[in-house]
Amino acid sequence: MNSLTNADLHCHSVISDGTLTPEVLAQRAKANGVELWALTDHDELGGQDRAIAAARALELPYLTGTEISVTFAGITVHIVGLGMDHKNPALLSGLHNTRNGREQRAREMSDDLARVGIPGVYEGALKYVGNPELISRSHFARYLVEIGVCKEISEVFRKYITEGKPGFVPHRWATLGHAVSWITQSGGVAVVAHPGRYKLTPNEEFALFTEFKAHGGQGVEVMTGAHGQADYVKYAGYCKEFDLVASRGSDFHSPEESHTDLGQLPDLPGTVTPVWDLLRSRILQ
Ligand code: AMP
Ligand code: MN
Ligand code: MN
Ligand code: MN
Repeated sequence: MNSLTNADLHCHSVISDGTLTPEVLAQRAKANGVELWALTDHDELGGQDRAIAAARALELPYLTGTEISVTFAGITVHIVGLGMDHKNPALLSGLHNTRNGREQRAREMSDDLARVGIPGVYEGALKYVGNPELISRSHFARYLVEIGVCKEISEVFRKYITEGKPGFVPHRWATLGHAVSWITQSGGVAVVAHPGRYKLTPNEEFALFTEFKAHGGQGVEVMTGAHGQADYVKYAGYCKEFDLVASRGSDFHSPEESHTDLGQLPDLPGTVTPVWDLLRSRILQ
């Protein structure tokens, strides 16, 4: 494996807010030419045994994964963990606690949407939920498209469920320090997910990467579905500036909703060290 390996180290199954099972994702990754795969459900490891078994049956090298929701400087950032021992008790209980507030938050979102004339969204969203502990804004968005309130998922986020909009309920997730230490203390590598998506000022972004490093974080997603050419260049530069390894992952959720399919990203730039260089002993094959 080298920097040109077709690695896809970020995607979601029905165990969080994806629409495919771990088994179908494994088949799709293999069919798309993925050579190293990780399933990274939000705040969950419940799909890992299924992903490991499916990858093994397909002779697809696999890294365990998750994507942890973190509150940093008042905004939500995501930290991907790769190569952890997915049975580690501290990691499992940290993720369990991180998931804990989702049900209450969903009920409040639904109450708020009822107030603007859209009733029953909690119950409607539940039809799309594969894991009762992981009701997400994505499930809300699918239901609002189903009932015709919006034409597409991104419109729901824009109009209803992002900061300042009527169905948005602020939530306190894990701390950056906790998320990074759950990952590293269970043998994994922590990676800042899709940094180009956060609306951070340069000072806030500097603080995020500085604190992330101080807590033991080692990687950044350079190639991801949410990034464009300018982000690829910028975050490849951050690898040098902050001495980080680079990750690559589509963030695939659904054939109908995701722009970037599994294994369909450009290669990592030649200037960076791939995250899998740090994880060779953790690859399951
Ligand atoms: P939650 O963890 O419940 O806050 O939901 C966050 C998820 O919503 C992310 O992981 C994405 O899958 C999805 N998401 C966030 N923003 C958007 C957007 N603008 N368009 C489509 N999906 C989004
Ligand atoms: Mn998601
Ligand atoms: Mn994310
Ligand atoms: Mn994701």
